[in-house]
Amino acid sequence: MGSKIVEVHPGIYEIFLPLPMRPTIINVYLIDCHGAWALVDTGMNSPESIATLEDAFAQIGLKIEQLNTLIATHHHIDHFGASGELRRRSGAATHIHQLEAARAARMLFFGRTSSAERPESRPFFLKHGFPIDEHSSDGMRPAWMGTQMYFPVTEPDHYIADGDIIEVGDRKFEVIWTPGHSPGHNVIYLRKEKVMIVGDHLLPKITPHVGIYPDADADSNPLGDFIDSQRKVQRFDAELILPAHGGVYQDHRHRANQIIEHHRYREAEMLDLVRNKPQTAFEVAQQIFGGEERPIFHVMAATFETLAHLEYARIEGRARKLERGDRVLFQAL
Ligand SMILES: [Zn+2]
Repeated sequence: MGSKIVEVHPGIYEIFLPLPMRPTIINVYLIDCHGAWALVDTGMNSPESIATLEDAFAQIGLKIEQLNTLIATHHHIDHFGASGELRRRSGAATHIHQLEAARAARMLFFGRTSSAERPESRPFFLKHGFPIDEHSSDGMRPAWMGTQMYFPVTEPDHYIADGDIIEVGDRKFEVIWTPGHSPGHNVIYLRKEKVMIVGDHLLPKITPHVGIYPDADADSNPLGDFIDSQRKVQRFDAELILPAHGGVYQDHRHRANQIIEHHRYREAEMLDLVRNKPQTAFEVAQQIFGGEERPIFHVMAATFETLAHLEYARIEGRARKLERGDRVLFQAL
């Protein structure tokens, strides 16, 4: 068997697909359902990724055209970017959460405008201290946006929701809704096999981005959701954890605790900064993540991740929000 595909459990294959950004690899999972084939996540719709997927399939005598079912953990480009192409070629029934399908459609629309150009965005950036007018709108979005590399299914065959069981051949895929990194993110659980396909929710080495963006609802608390989703997966028994980035591993309960602890520490660092001097999310982000020269897209992500921490702290009663002119400052309580 070649290096791009590994059988990690009987009939469950891990396939490594290339990404033109960091992390540089996404793992997707192909499952032999004995009479049918399912794929969890798709990689990007780049020629390199599709060719790698074809090669990996060929090593076990399979063609993309033979796929029966596509299940997505969430709508991000590395997870769902090739779904349109794979469904076009195979007719595979495509499953994703409704919130994610809506985001995929919106992402296509955003491909034509940058967040800085959208009328609702500018006040949001300024409110949180982000000097949006100093940056070209092109820098505010990833290079793949608006290209064929993102070719998602926007009208899936099935919307999936918490507790659903997708039956394919002799396998049962349970849907565990894990909002946080994305509002409709799902972990896919094979109860009998004790295998958990965790998408970006429980990565072994890194923590996924959790941020509050201009289009978020006023009361949204994605970091609170993310922490709750970490506790939620701890209630399920699993012996093999299959992440979207990094190696497969065993102890998801331990990893969930580490991730919760990481965010607790981050929040404490941020609250220390705003204990005596109220500051905007941007100012806090510059001190926590800043320093060296970074692409403005990363500065934006750091700002919105910081905002998610500060809002979580506020909702939990550890910080408050102060309106100063058209700015919002946070202060530790
Ligand atoms: Zn993601």
